[in-house]
Amino acid sequence: MQFDLNEEQSDIRDMVRRFTEQEITPHAESWDENYHFPREVYTKMAGLGLMGMTTPEEYGGSMLSRLEGALVYEELAKGEMATAVGLSVHNMITGSLARFGNEEQRQRWVARLAMGELLGAFSLSESGAGSDAASLQCRAELQNDSYVLNGNKLWVTNGGEADIYLVMARSKPGKAAGGISCFVVEKDTPGFSFGKTERKMGLHSSPTRELIFDNCAIPITNRIGEEGQGFKIALSSLDGGRVNIGAIAVGVAQAAFDTARQYARQRQQFGRPIAAFQGLQFLLADMAMKIEASRLLVYEAAYKLDTEQNARMYAAMAKCFATDTAMEVTTNAVQVLGGAGYVRDYPVERMMRDVKVAQIFEGTNQIQRIVIARALLGDLK
Ligand SMILES: Cc1cc2nc3c(=O)[nH]c(=O)nc-3n(C[C@H](O)[C@H](O)[C@H](O)COP(=O)(O)OP(=O)(O)OC[C@H]3O[C@@H](n4cnc5c(N)ncnc54)[C@H](O)[C@@H]3O)c2cc1C
Repeated sequence: MQFDLNEEQSDIRDMVRRFTEQEITPHAESWDENYHFPREVYTKMAGLGLMGMTTPEEYGGSMLSRLEGALVYEELAKGEMATAVGLSVHNMITGSLARFGNEEQRQRWVARLAMGELLGAFSLSESGAGSDAASLQCRAELQNDSYVLNGNKLWVTNGGEADIYLVMARSKPGKAAGGISCFVVEKDTPGFSFGKTERKMGLHSSPTRELIFDNCAIPITNRIGEEGQGFKIALSSLDGGRVNIGAIAVGVAQAAFDTARQYARQRQQFGRPIAAFQGLQFLLADMAMKIEASRLLVYEAAYKLDTEQNARMYAAMAKCFATDTAMEVTTNAVQVLGGAGYVRDYPVERMMRDVKVAQIFEGTNQIQRIVIARALLGDLK
């Protein structure tokens, strides 16, 4: 076992660090203020191979390992969490299409997604089906050689901006997970429209939108995998997504910590830098310790995914621990800055607002604990 990055991993991290410093960090505040979705940055990320990170090279991807992916997300999130989240969702669906799609489907969509010509979104949740996602009710009825979709989906990251939507819908009535299938719906399909855009606490530059299907007919060739495989595809996509969210949380926490440490060394009260007070030293020491523990757990989960070893439990552990840590660290970073932390002159208030959702999406942290307990104890009825 060794704890240093190899040369290739360091190169990837350094490349994304430079990109973030030049293209993301300087704009993060204004994107947040103006709810601006920076599509142009996604085009630039495609130039670095970041839009096809889990896609084989023959389909235009860069096929990074999950560990290399974690380094990418951590660096991007230091600049701005929302863009890193949008990229993670895009890669989740690009990777799932490469993995579960047939050759014709890969040729049709994967290369264009990996090269950034198309943007992807992932749609599982509904108003009545959040944590209990398997109870979703959006219908997909087979009529001749088409599926006809009816129903609403909620909370879709990249919603409205994306060109390709990976949609889980019920092809068999009832409540069973085995009745769910997975479909690609393209943006301009008749009968497919967008509902409300959510007004959120944070993550302002990442649009979260409702999808509406009203007799939306899509060709049978848009079904990914077999009928009834949709929920399995969704869960498998989420394993990777959860490691990405863990890495993003590490990046946000690290950036908040760096701001707090620098501020604590400069700010003078009672004739001394506030960092000289043990009350703050212990706070900063705990923050650093928990960030490091999160990082190691995220890297381990990424490794487990790369080597296919009980990855679901590790992905849940990494997502849960790293996002709980990031919430604590960003909150404490605001505390270290005092009043300056509560206003927009420093990025820590945005980081605290942004990172809250990481404890909620891709399965809440209560659900992650259920996944971990089930892996440890079995499915107790
Ligand atoms: C900004 C944002 C972006 C999102 N992006 C996407 C996306 O791109 N695609 C997508 O499909 N979804 C997306 N989501 C949806 C997200 O995954 C859900 O919000 C999440 O799964 C929780 O579902 P819910 O909001 O319905 O909460 P609920 O399921 O109603 O949960 C409410 C509370 O009850 C708790 N709870 C529920 N069941 C249990 C249980 N069995 N034991 C203990 N506690 C429990 C939860 O942990 C939570 O605290 C997004 C959400 C947000 C806010």
